[in-house]
Amino acid sequence: MSKTSSGGPCDAPETIWQAGTFDSIKRRYMRLGLCSACAAQAAWGHQLGFSLSNPPCQECQPLVDTFPVKKPNRWHSWSPRRGASLSKGLRPGTGQDQP
Ligand SMILES: [Zn+2]
Repeated sequence: MSKTSSGGPCDAPETIWQAGTFDSIKRRYMRLGLCSACAAQAAWGHQLGFSLSNPPCQECQPLVDTFPVKKPNRWHSWSPRRGASLSKGLRPGTGQDQP
């Protein structure tokens, strides 16, 4: 009986995509070769859905096309997983504000 489950917030093993913040996902995409603007959009895509992201720019589009997971808005994702949820205050101008 070595299993300890004390109800911790997240005891499951997490990947970079699940554990990562918006910024770490963005950096991952920049390392894959996207420009910083597109890397940010990709990070938004993981957090909020690619239908809410702007399409990649012309320079990044050919690279994005090589990513394995097809997404809306001419996006392809490097990973099917979504990142951790963002606080609502960080949403990219959807007009949804916390009262
Ligand atoms: Zn770009």
